[in-house]
Amino acid sequence: MDGAARMDAGDNNAMNQQFMAQLRATFEQLPHDITLYLFTQKGQVDPFTDTTRQVVRAFRQLSPRISFREYSLDHAKATEWKVDRHSTLLISPERYNIRWIGAPMGEEGRTFLELLILVGLGQSGLSDQSLRVIDRIADPTNIKVFVSPTCPYCPQQAVNAIKAVVEKPELISLEIIDIQCNPDLADQYQAHSVPQTFANDILVGQGAQTEEVFLTSVHKMEPQTIFIPESDAEQVDVDVLIVGGGPAGLTAGIYTERSGLRTAVVERGALGGQVATTPVVENYPGFTSVGGKTLVDIMVNHALQYVQIFQGEEVVKVETGEPIIVQTSRRKFTTRSLLLATGASHRKLGVPGESRLSGRGVSYCSTCDGPLFKGKKVVMIGGGNSAVTEALHLFHIGVDVTLIHRRDKLRAQDFLAKQIADNNIPVLWNTEVQEIRGQERVNELLLINNGTGETSTMPIDGVFLAIGYEPSVKLAREIGAALTEDGYVKHDGKHRTNIPGVYSAGDVEGGYKQIVTATGQGSEAAMTLFEDIINPYWQKKSA
Ligand code: NAP
Repeated sequence: MDGAARMDAGDNNAMNQQFMAQLRATFEQLPHDITLYLFTQKGQVDPFTDTTRQVVRAFRQLSPRISFREYSLDHAKATEWKVDRHSTLLISPERYNIRWIGAPMGEEGRTFLELLILVGLGQSGLSDQSLRVIDRIADPTNIKVFVSPTCPYCPQQAVNAIKAVVEKPELISLEIIDIQCNPDLADQYQAHSVPQTFANDILVGQGAQTEEVFLTSVHKMEPQTIFIPESDAEQVDVDVLIVGGGPAGLTAGIYTERSGLRTAVVERGALGGQVATTPVVENYPGFTSVGGKTLVDIMVNHALQYVQIFQGEEVVKVETGEPIIVQTSRRKFTTRSLLLATGASHRKLGVPGESRLSGRGVSYCSTCDGPLFKGKKVVMIGGGNSAVTEALHLFHIGVDVTLIHRRDKLRAQDFLAKQIADNNIPVLWNTEVQEIRGQERVNELLLINNGTGETSTMPIDGVFLAIGYEPSVKLAREIGAALTEDGYVKHDGKHRTNIPGVYSAGDVEGGYKQIVTATGQGSEAAMTLFEDIINPYWQKKSA
């Protein structure tokens, strides 16, 4: 051994000793004992279980706070704690329902150490925002995190789950499952890439998530990719308040904040507007094909780098002036300018049965409700891009769909229309729906051929409508913004409405109504707004 190698070995040894001393001191200060119980099948010998024993014994030597017992699966303790799998390690089962199924090897050693410390502390250390989310979990929830010893991302996800149990032991239980030791469970859950997380056996996370995104996914029981922090502020003062969190509003927010204008976005419903429920987008540059919700999440994540988003609150009152005062259902905003990016909402057919059976077979969202109609017979009404895109989506997920259009030619782009023919999706031309029938649920349509005047009935399980949109101009009307003859917000070509300080962008202005035009209008409105705040045009005019 040369001098340098000797010094390295000596240094390592000293560092190890220092680390162990720190660990001992940490465990000494923990307020709670940590009890570990390993359950194994009598006579079954395997290297994973030996590793678990070694790891646990090594930790036990560190602190008298840690105790370790091993029982066979036919012991009364196994019945008491409902353990039936070799080998399962329970961690302080008197206080928590946490099971380690497999061995804490490799990267999982980190998770195991954190687990012992969190259980010994009896405190989760969750962030304030996470605590708000976990507070909303009201039902018993079993979390399974599939991990592997060679996965560097797994500890983050497993620790998120441990914190959740430590915070809410009365409702949340956890199984950390090593896929190398338990290939049968990995097969059963199809967890072949890790970390993978299930809540009550529903997939809620693929890959490591931030603590807040993880808890939101568990709460909503579906994978989330974004987390929007909540605010308690009673009053928020900004330069720009954007109403509407679709592509136009989000883009405007990115632009105005980057211009140095403090900006907030208020959205009463789901972020992303119509795009969020579009099955697939194929004409947004940069993406050959992307799910609408995925595109929205990318946009929202981008916007969140700059602007604060207030989701789930509705504007209830606006007082125009300097400043403009906006009262939402949650708080008050003062702002120098207001951007209306309120978009549009689904047009209704207005026939008997439509409202009564809405949600009972009548749907305006194939992405949301389509899977409920797999193998069933539905119609899609409309002849534009939306109807065709959504009919194709239904067809591809196994729904028996017929398109009904009131003309003999589709309004949709040729590229989309061709796919209807290529997939042999039936189309009823020159056909209008006169009535949607059914008692508890939709079961029949009354149709008329507008060429021949002939009426007919059609037995059906569901009716999807995509017959265009009506601009959402309620707020614009209330504040006195002028509208066009078609009912859209009127602007001067640079997105200024007739009210000083109030602007518009996106589908609420009418026009082409594409995602790419909405983002373009959002950026234009933001730039006009910036120029006006620096040099207000209405003051210039009156001077
Ligand atoms: P749209 O283009 O306005 O088409 C609405 C369709 O519904 C038309 O075919 C219309 O028939 C029909 N319709 C309207 N009222 C009806 C009624 N009372 N009864 C029966 N049928 C009725 O609406 P959209 O398809 O929802 O699209 C909205 C905007 O988003 C458009 O600008 C569209 O280009 C855009 N978009 C683009 C894409 C894409 O580019 N991939 C995807 C989706 C949406 P008529 O043809 O007889 O008027």
